[in-house]
Amino acid sequence: MYIVFLGAPGAGKGTQAVNVGQAIKLEHLATGDLFRQVQAQNTDTARLLRSYVEKGQLVPDDITIQTVLEQLAASTGKGIIFDGFPRNLKQAEALDRALAERGESLDKAVYIKVSEKELLSRLSGRWICQKCQTSYHTVTAPPKIQGKCDRCGSKLYQRADDTVETINKRLNIYFAETAPLIDYYKRSGKLIEIDGEGSVDDVERRIMDSLKVAGVVSR
Ligand code: AMP
Repeated sequence: MYIVFLGAPGAGKGTQAVNVGQAIKLEHLATGDLFRQVQAQNTDTARLLRSYVEKGQLVPDDITIQTVLEQLAASTGKGIIFDGFPRNLKQAEALDRALAERGESLDKAVYIKVSEKELLSRLSGRWICQKCQTSYHTVTAPPKIQGKCDRCGSKLYQRADDTVETINKRLNIYFAETAPLIDYYKRSGKLIEIDGEGSVDDVERRIMDSLKVAGVVSR
């Protein structure tokens, strides 16, 4: 099974993709996480990636698509939740082609919808665990011990691209390039729209219920 998680930066895609992935036993493929791992290295590729990501720009399609295709080729075959990919039409078409070449196809695109006001508030207070990537928020979801992850005890950090200026740029790019994918998946009958406001558990329940209603997950 292959599912795309769509939504603006801050919509909760990453958190939900991890939780739903564990619940229905699919691999979690997050291009942002893959790029952050490479960026931490001292290589030319790391510097190249940083030059896009830290400015809030999209990494060029050829690099992004190649990265995803390599992960797809190396996957176990139990299915994948794509988180943060595709982010434009070219990437969506490349994914459809790659799956078709394997005799497979995308099952659903889960669009997590959150208001712009809420996105700005979530992104500007976001802290993330260095190790397990669990997301916290200074106001709405603070960790029990300041600066430490409740799940694994590792240090929390703020992403370099979670500054007000870069957040605005990322949101503009989202509305211009990624939001048109909502229509793309609606046209192919694959879109599932989810209200992304409320608690993490509420949103997860809505996603699981919709996947069951759509018949892609057993009840
Ligand atoms: P994310 O963690 O999904 O918010 O991604 C962080 C950053 O990585 C984005 O702002 C982009 O610079 C880059 N990135 C992640 N996924 C993609 C993608 N599918 N296409 C291009 N750039 C991406």
